[in-house]
Order: sequence, then C-alpha cells, then structure tokens
Amino acid sequence: MSQSAPTPSLAGQTAIVTGASSGIGASCAVELGRAGARVVVNYRGSRDGADATVAAIRALGGEAEAVQADVSKEEDVIALFDASQARFGPPDIVVSNAGLQRDKPVADMSLDDWNAVISVNLTGGFLVGREAIRRFRAKGLREDVSRALGKLVFDSSVHQRIPWAFRVNYAASKGGLKLLMESLAQEVAPERIRVNAVAPGAIATDINKAEREKAGGETDMLKLIPYGRIGEPADIGRAVAWLVSDAADYITGQTLFVDGGMTLYPEFRGNG
Ligand code: NAD
Repeated sequence: MSQSAPTPSLAGQTAIVTGASSGIGASCAVELGRAGARVVVNYRGSRDGADATVAAIRALGGEAEAVQADVSKEEDVIALFDASQARFGPPDIVVSNAGLQRDKPVADMSLDDWNAVISVNLTGGFLVGREAIRRFRAKGLREDVSRALGKLVFDSSVHQRIPWAFRVNYAASKGGLKLLMESLAQEVAPERIRVNAVAPGAIATDINKAEREKAGGETDMLKLIPYGRIGEPADIGRAVAWLVSDAADYITGQTLFVDGGMTLYPEFRGNG
C-alpha cells in the first residue's frame, strides 16, 4: 500500500478483487482504487483485513465496499457479483486473486490437501471468471470509460512455469490456470473482453511468511531472485492496475511475470 506513480485512470469503472483482505489482493484493490475505480473488496474470513483495505481506499478519496464470499462455492460467487452490482453497478474489472497453499511431500498429501488447493486456486478461478464474462456481456460496451467490454486478470504464479516439489497441488493449480486463462482469452476476445494473468515471483505476504521467517529462509529465497530483493505486494498491484487500463488495451491472453527475474534460471548465471 505504498505511494506510487500515477496509473492510467480507471475513473467510472467498477472492480471486484477476490481475496483482498491481505497481501497481493489488498494491494491490487488499493492500486485500482488509487487509479479511480470503485472497488469491491472480497474476503472469505478476515472481515478486519477487508475493512483495512476498504479504509485504505477511502483514505485515498476512493469508494470501496467489503463483501464476504468463498470463491470455491458457486452460490457465493454469484452472490458476490450480485452484491457488487447492487452497490456499484456491473463490473468492468475483475481480479481473481484468492489463493492458498497446502504443502506436503506427495506421499503425505491427502485428497483433502489436493482438493483444498485446486478448489480455490483453479475452480475458484473458473467460477469467478465465468461470472465476470456473464456480467461483462450483460453490461455492454461503455467506450466513454474503457475501450474494452471487460478486463479479467488471474493471479497466477511463476509456478505456472517452474515445477515445485512438495507442492504438486499448488503447481498443478497454477499450471491449470495458465490454460484456463489462455483458452478463455481466445474465446472472448472477439467481444472485446481482455483476459490476462499476472505471475508473481516471491512477494512478502502471509502465504510465505513461515518460509521467509525460518532460519536462512530469506537468504535462500534471494538466491532465486536476480534482481536482489523480495517483492512487495504493490509491485503486483501496480502491474495489475496498468494491465486493466486502456494503456494495455491490445494485450490479451498474456501472462505478465512480475518476479525480479526468477524465471530467468538464475542458477545458470556464470555456469551451466
Ligand atoms: P495471502 O494469503 O495474503 O492472500 C490470499 C488471500 O486469498 C487471503 O486473503 C485469503 O483469505 C484469500 N482466500 C483464500 N481462500 C479463499 C476463498 N475460498 N475465497 C475467498 N478468498 C480466499 O497471500 P498472497 O501472496 O497475497 O496470495 C494472493 C495470490 O497470489 C494467490 O493466488 C497466490 O497463489 C498468488 N501468488 C503469491 C505469491 C507470493 O509470493 N506471495 C507468488 C505467486 C503467486
């Protein structure tokens, strides 16, 4: 939620961000609000976190509202879009960000561990993406606010490309999200709906707090990041605010890696 350079205006547009009570989702919500969008801040359990995100947007002079929903439940997702529409009108921008990890060596990974991750990261992406497309269509094009009928962004991960041992559920969910995003982008591009993904590297949030805070954790992480710092949520929030703006109007079906070079195979630098 740090200060940043101005992003292209999103004034007059409504955005929904899932999992926006913390971390990257909270930052996406704030950056969209800073750019002028009205923002629906979805949360599953942390009302306090969602209220803090809403307060941060209002402090910038923006409009925001918290709405509870579990993105892995079809009826919750529809209710989220209904509540959003009642408050701020139909969405122009949807950021499907909610996600989680449940790491285990494969032999110890229960079906519940597998389903918990797939149902939020991948099925949740499908449910949110499908509802976004339906609502964009019903709204119709409003060229006075955007050249696109709608903009949908999935929060993927570098692990849609980099295999990740002990997290086969997570890597499979993000790999699945890549082709969900690309196939959906191909399907709806003729309607001027843009579908893209952002793929963060290591960003300091709750999802990797334990990993970062264990002895030597940050040092090990930094070995994988040529740019030499762990990312901040705003690194992603700013990228998303740009990706949904008309400055990026000709971009669809793409994954924007925001990872300080993690996908550059840094271990090959100077040898290999
Ligand atoms: P985070 O734990 O702070 O945020 C995840 C958010 O998703 C939380 O607010 C959580 O409450 C919410 N959520 C989980 N299940 C939900 C559900 N069923 N319905 C609604 N909300 C739900 O961690 P984060 O790092 O900000 O993660 C956000 C996204 O970024 C995730 O999709 C994650 O996979 C992705 N990502 C994070 C990193 C990183 O290094 N932090 C890297 C790559 C990708």
